[in-house]
Amino acid sequence: MNLDPDIRRTAYLRSSQVTLKPYYETRNGMLNSLIEGEYGTDIQKSAGSGAFSGSKCIFCIDEGLPPDKMPAGIHVPGSLIGWENADAVNFIKEHGVVEITSHPDCAAGKKYAHDYGLNEDQADAIARQRIQSIARQANIRFVHIVPSKLRRELGFHPARICYYIGSQYFDPRALNMPQGFMVSRRFLSQEIAQNAALLAFQIASGPKGYDTLISDHPFKQFMFIAVGARTHDRYAAEALMAELEDVTRACGKRAIVRGLSEF
Ligand SMILES: [Zn+2]
Repeated sequence: MNLDPDIRRTAYLRSSQVTLKPYYETRNGMLNSLIEGEYGTDIQKSAGSGAFSGSKCIFCIDEGLPPDKMPAGIHVPGSLIGWENADAVNFIKEHGVVEITSHPDCAAGKKYAHDYGLNEDQADAIARQRIQSIARQANIRFVHIVPSKLRRELGFHPARICYYIGSQYFDPRALNMPQGFMVSRRFLSQEIAQNAALLAFQIASGPKGYDTLISDHPFKQFMFIAVGARTHDRYAAEALMAELEDVTRACGKRAIVRGLSEF
């Protein structure tokens, strides 16, 4: 049974999960430092294995991905759904992608249906067909992630964090960090990545997310976390944080920017 989003939000609020406080009260020192506003936290001390590993598999930026038992991958809104065929195939070839996935309840899929004047009620089926078609053209595997594998319930987006990833891969689960939207900046242009980050904020602060419960009050903002690469200046945390500051200008103080670096 799908609960009304308002009831779900209220339940989250009661359990205080809508604020960053529960995270703060955890024993995750790194995350707490980030919330406090420190930068350059040495994550080596607390890093689990696999935090910076992943696979050549394309996922959406949705916080319910990757599913359990699948490693992090290349996270692009709607798994390239809005891209021209040639651009999508080029992207796949250029990065040696071997698999592409679609998933139910995809906000980027809904946006695609809306932008192309298609029936938004059919967005899931449209997205699935579109991504399958990209897979066929690029001759790679296609996997549809079924609702039971998505790490969130349908109709509600529980994340209030977006990881903006400059390392090759990033898997917050390996660091016991909260699930969040995942934007693979390393594989995307600045413009596409910034738009993806803004989309994450819009979902979280929209009717299927926390709506007005995300505000400019301390602990109630949305948090962008730049995940900087160790060796590439362009993808270092400072550079990514500057890009995210651009994004937050469209968020009206309802979002904050933090950063950490690959060790
Ligand atoms: Zn999606």
